[in-house]
Parts: sequence; C-alpha cells; structure tokens
Amino acid sequence: MSLGSIPMRYRVKIDREQCMECMRCIDNCSYGVFREENGKIHIDSRNCTVCHRCISMCPRDAIDLHERPVDYRSHPLWTPEAREDIINQARGGKIILSGMGNAKPYPVIFDRLVLDACQVTNPSIDPLREPMELRTYIGKKPKQLHITKNEAGDLELETELSPNLKLDTPIMIGHMSYGAISLNAQLSLAKAAAKVGTYMGTGEGGLHEHLHPYQNNMIVQVASGRFGVDIDYLERGAAIEIKIGQGAKPGIGGHLPGEKVCADISCTRMIPQGSDAISPAPHHDIYSIEDLAQLVRSLKEATNWEKPVFVKIAAVHNTAAIAAGIARSSADAVVIDGFRGGTGAAPKVFRDNVGIPIEAAIASVDQKLHDQGIRNKLSVIASGGIRNSADIAKAIALGADAVYIGTAALVSMGCRVCGNCYRGLCPWGIATQREDLVQRLDPEIESEHVANLINSWTLELSEIMGAAGINSIESLRSNRSRLRGYMLDEGTLEVLEVKPVGA
Ligand code: SF4
Ligand code: SF4
Repeated sequence: MSLGSIPMRYRVKIDREQCMECMRCIDNCSYGVFREENGKIHIDSRNCTVCHRCISMCPRDAIDLHERPVDYRSHPLWTPEAREDIINQARGGKIILSGMGNAKPYPVIFDRLVLDACQVTNPSIDPLREPMELRTYIGKKPKQLHITKNEAGDLELETELSPNLKLDTPIMIGHMSYGAISLNAQLSLAKAAAKVGTYMGTGEGGLHEHLHPYQNNMIVQVASGRFGVDIDYLERGAAIEIKIGQGAKPGIGGHLPGEKVCADISCTRMIPQGSDAISPAPHHDIYSIEDLAQLVRSLKEATNWEKPVFVKIAAVHNTAAIAAGIARSSADAVVIDGFRGGTGAAPKVFRDNVGIPIEAAIASVDQKLHDQGIRNKLSVIASGGIRNSADIAKAIALGADAVYIGTAALVSMGCRVCGNCYRGLCPWGIATQREDLVQRLDPEIESEHVANLINSWTLELSEIMGAAGINSIESLRSNRSRLRGYMLDEGTLEVLEVKPVGA
C-alpha cells in the first residue's frame, strides 16, 4: 500500500494582474518551480526550496510565497518534521541529507548574553575621535619579551617570535572548498579577504590556480582525504590548517559525489575526474595527540617553520581537554567549530543532534588553557553560527582571538539559507558547479558585498568596545566580566564563567 504524498510545504503564487510575462522566474529558478506552456506560466510549488531567487528577480513584485499551514493533526512530540522524515526514510531507506547548520530550535546562548557599557563612573571611548586597535595576531605569543641594548645603544629583541598571521580585523572567512562552492564564490571571498586585510580558508578541495593571486590571504587546509595537498600547495598558503572535525558533522567524514568532480575540480583536488571524493572520518595517521604533533611538525618542517599551523576540531563534550593537547602539539591555533556550523551536505541527524554550542566551547577551552598556563601557546578561532558583530564581541569576551564566518559571508553574496546546497543547483551561483548558474555570481560585485559586511561589523565592534571603555581588542579578549547572562541556568553560567544580569 502506498504511503501517499506528504503535504506541500510552500505555496508559490503569481499575481496575474501584476505579471508582465517576462519569464524571468522561469529562467531564474533552477528547481523547476515555473514552466511555460502555451504562453502561460505554470507553477509546481512542490519543487520550491524558498531560495527567493524568483522573488528577487521579478521586476513586478508579482510572486507571493507562503509557508502552508500544517496539514497534520498537531502534536507536541510528533511534529510534521518528525513524521515527514519517517515517511521519507520508509520510502527511500536512506540517510537524510541536509545543508547549512543545526536547524533545531535550541536556545542560542549568544542571545542570552548581554554586553556591558560605561556609565558615569567609567568613561566610554568615542571611536570616531580616538584610535581603536582591532589588529589581531593569530599564533603563539611569547610569555615574556627579552630586550637588550646593542653596542650602538639601540634596543634589540632577543626573544625569537613564532610566525603569526596579522589581521586588520578579528573576522576571518572560514573554509569552504572548491567543489562544495563554486570557483566564483571562492574568488569573491578571496578578493574580499585581501580587501579588508584578513584571511580565508581554501577548504579541503585544494587551491585553484585562479586563487593564486590571493594566496597571501589564504589558509590552505589539509583534511583526511589530503585532496590537492602537495608541497606547492603548502608553500602557497599563509598558514596551514589540519581539519580534524567540523561542527555540522562531528566524527564523520565528507563525500563529494563523482558527478560533481568535473575536470577543473579533479585537477584542483588531484583526483580522477568523475570519482567520488571521500574524506575518511579519521585521519588514518592520527590516533593520539602525539600523532597529531607529528603531522603538525611535518607540515612545519616541510614549510621551513615559516607558517603557523592550525588544527580545526568540532566542538564536542571534551573539547577543552583536546584543545590543551593541541596546544602541546606545536600547533599555533585551534579552530573550534560549534554545532551551528554550516555545511554543504551533512546527515540531518548529525547536523541537528551532535556536538555542543560554540559559546560553551570557547569559554571552556579558554579557561582550560589559562588554568594550565598555556593560553599564550595557542590562538583560539571560533566558528559556527556567527550572525552579527554582537556575536563576535561576545565570542571574543568569552575567550576567542578571532572568528571564522561562513554562512554570513554566503548570505552577503545572495544565499538565502535554503539548505539545499547538497543538490548542486544553487540558483545564486554559490553551491553549484553548473556553469550557467556559476556565471550568475560576479566576483567583482560579490567581493564588494562580503568586504562591506566585514567592514561594517568591524566598525560596529569598535563602537561596542568604545561603549565599554575598551580601546583594544586584546582587552576585550577573555574579559567575561563585561558579559552577563540573561535567562541562562546556573550550570551554563558556571561553564561560561559569567555572572547573571544584575550581579
Ligand atoms: S518574473 Fe515576475 S513578472 Fe516576470 S513572468 Fe515571473 S512572475 Fe511574471
Ligand atoms: S548556498 Fe545556495 S543552495 Fe546553499 S543554502 Fe544558500 S541559497 Fe541555498
């Protein structure tokens, strides 16, 4: 017996009075919602993913899109989503894939933290009149500096400094590989990173030659599949990142289907065209911190000890202890990706249920490193659901040195967080390799949008700091006394080491 169809989620309508039948909606929708028959536009609402491309491109604002009222008997446990997932799995017998970050309505800790501001007894700083220091250095810092005077009487620094990345803003662009996103999307991000004086990650898909002009602003990634990794790749990056885990899918690997591995991607990843690009769940040469230390040192040795090496992990229950081990592995920074971190494709059950929020991970890692007296040995980069400058200020006050943004950067290029990246049909030219769709994204224009976003968040950060009487990002870091928790339970406040409001 058939399970029947599940109710349509969205209803697309065209106001026929307004419509001038320009057919742009047909051309723009890559999911096949609109089609023309006998000069009339027909609509198949079932195909709609709410990517908003048609609405954005319609010159007459003639398209209406509605979430349909729930067609199930309401039940607090058996939500429409729970029932639909079961029906789909009963039909297909497959893992449900999804894109973007955790979509469960867990409370967002950032939204329950409030920032401090000066009033009467302590002066605030006006960033328009006074200099604000947002420069950020990522890498090991010496505990002490030793300075001597040479024979000519000039001061000389005796302490040997480790290689650091210098950022003009604590906002970096996280790793999104060529394959998961288009080359035009990567180019837009790379140009933006160069414009604003920050860095972006290549992801695990290698470094396309068109990105070579921006290599000084790029962090090259070494993941378990080792795609695209050779000495030339390592030498081109400003820093190297070993990817152990990812917030959207901790503990599992990745899979780029063979049909997406076109000639260009196969060259960049150094794998045969049309073959599946499978990243194993673990690195097969890393089963301990000692193994990790070997890889960190090998990468440093291969690049003449000139580049900082980062280690990226997903935020999980024992993240603080792992980070302390990473600090002892000679790595220069740990990237922690919280459970709201985006992805092109992840099993939905992982995306929504595995890992911990980035806020708790930052606080516990920062505290552990301080407790062990090794905070200077490791920079902390936080990622996973950073949505605005307030999130960044809160992440830094909790203990991060800098943040990676991913989804936010894509949204600034048009992404509507429809979550269908894994289908490869992104109508905004981002998560697709289809040439006609990729061409919709102009790297000149989109790099400007991404740069504008980072610049405006950086300005807002200066305002937030100024209001708190802080003129240097260094003074905001780990400064949890400038945060208060609102409607957070005692246990969470304890992990965050933040007082409740009013205290
Ligand atoms: S894009 Fe708008 S005006 Fe053009 S055909 Fe579609 S609904 Fe009509
Ligand atoms: S990148 Fe494209 S497909 Fe992915 S969520 Fe954004 S709009 Fe949707």
